[in-house]
Amino acid sequence: MTDTAARTPTDVLAELTSWLEENWDPNLTLGEWWERLGTSGWAAPTWPEEWFGKGLSREEGVRVQRAIADHGAVGAPAGLGLLLAGPTIYTHGSDEQKERYLRDIVTGQRAWCQLFSEPGAGSDLAGLQARAVKDGDEWVVNGQKVWTSAGQAADLGMLLARTDPDVPKHQGISYFAVDMRQPGVEVRPLREMTGRALFNEVFMTDARVPDDAVIGGLNKGWAVANTTLAFERAGLGAGGGTAAGGAAVPGTLAGNLDKRAGDFVRARDRSGGPGMFANAERLLTELAKANGKISDPTVRQDLMELHTLNEIARFTNLRQKALKGTGTDIPGVGNLAKLSMSRILRLSRDLGLRILGPLGTLHAYNAKDRKVLDDATGNPFAGLVTEMALFSPGPSIYGGTDEIQHNIIGERVLGLSKEPNNDKVTPFKELPKNG
Ligand SMILES: Cc1cc2nc3c(=O)[nH]c(=O)nc-3n(C[C@H](O)[C@H](O)[C@H](O)COP(=O)(O)OP(=O)(O)OC[C@H]3O[C@@H](n4cnc5c(N)ncnc54)[C@H](O)[C@@H]3O)c2cc1C
Repeated sequence: MTDTAARTPTDVLAELTSWLEENWDPNLTLGEWWERLGTSGWAAPTWPEEWFGKGLSREEGVRVQRAIADHGAVGAPAGLGLLLAGPTIYTHGSDEQKERYLRDIVTGQRAWCQLFSEPGAGSDLAGLQARAVKDGDEWVVNGQKVWTSAGQAADLGMLLARTDPDVPKHQGISYFAVDMRQPGVEVRPLREMTGRALFNEVFMTDARVPDDAVIGGLNKGWAVANTTLAFERAGLGAGGGTAAGGAAVPGTLAGNLDKRAGDFVRARDRSGGPGMFANAERLLTELAKANGKISDPTVRQDLMELHTLNEIARFTNLRQKALKGTGTDIPGVGNLAKLSMSRILRLSRDLGLRILGPLGTLHAYNAKDRKVLDDATGNPFAGLVTEMALFSPGPSIYGGTDEIQHNIIGERVLGLSKEPNNDKVTPFKELPKNG
């Protein structure tokens, strides 16, 4: 085992490059390539070394992702397995559960979704009503989930269900790894205004989960869920997003594992999803230069504001990292980062549509239409800007809405009093319910 602490970023990149030179082969199947990448530790470099990782920092992890893309290779299996389920399981799972689930995540063999939100439980997640009842060595689950990103391609789900309604709401929840490919689980895609169906409704009717698939202990699900949410927020702050799947979708249902890996390299570039915001500033400046809008002083001013906000976010991130090294923290920095991201996205949307002008009213809803639109307008980025604009409300909702971030900052950072309620002491079954 290598001593990661002693390695410099240059050492890490040199090691990765030589590994890629030896191992990347576009003629492998996607499944074979992910098998190599996952078992080498390069698919999940921030995970612990004993569980398919390399123990690297987030920053180094992002560098590794970029270096793999720059090499022209297919990156790690995207999605909620790598982003959320894996880190939650290596934090709370038993060794037997880590053996059972982690390898299939890093090698892309199984895809995961997050079965948390319900029609009556989103911001108030602990008010969830999906019910799991013990039956021998199994649990029987009934209830409905919603907003389930990538649920239609998931083999497994991180499920929160109520296992004890007689105790206060946070104390009677358990966290399960549920098999999505069973008759008791019905997934119905929901079409969004982007034209995509990123998320789904999921109906569970007498779905079955073995008792050994409870992660983190019976009725301990709230703490486990908070770990998942912490990794979700950290991922968002690092410019990630929920299920930014790209074209190389992992798992058995997407049907990609037997296809040629090399065919996924270009397809990932135009994948849409939250990752598309990463280069908004540069893209918008190029667009404004190309169509003459750069001579509009208000456009230039907004481009500068976008640049300033991005720079503030970058410096805050650096400051936070430096403080972490000394064992201190900026209170509420994660919440502030999320609010800042929402603001950056709204500005990118408004500015992008202003730069496009009437062209911004045209949108392509699939790859074929996108090509027709690109050919007709001669502007291959117009579709990307309208897609970004149509998706822009999403990030200020998922991972905790902007209003909830404000509440957290008010209560935990500024010390304002909480809204009065009895949630912490009243048994869940006696609480008034949503929906
Ligand atoms: C793109 C996208 C992907 C998602 N993917 C997933 C997924 O994979 N799995 C999953 O489980 N969920 C997912 N979600 C769901 C997401 O977590 C919820 O939408 C979110 O938690 C908000 O819950 P809600 O939609 O029920 O809104 P509600 O909680 O009903 O809120 C409605 C409005 O009321 C406001 N509000 C609520 N409570 C308060 C309060 N106490 N104080 C002030 N204002 C308040 C909210 O800010 C919001 O404006 C996704 C959402 C999006 C947009």
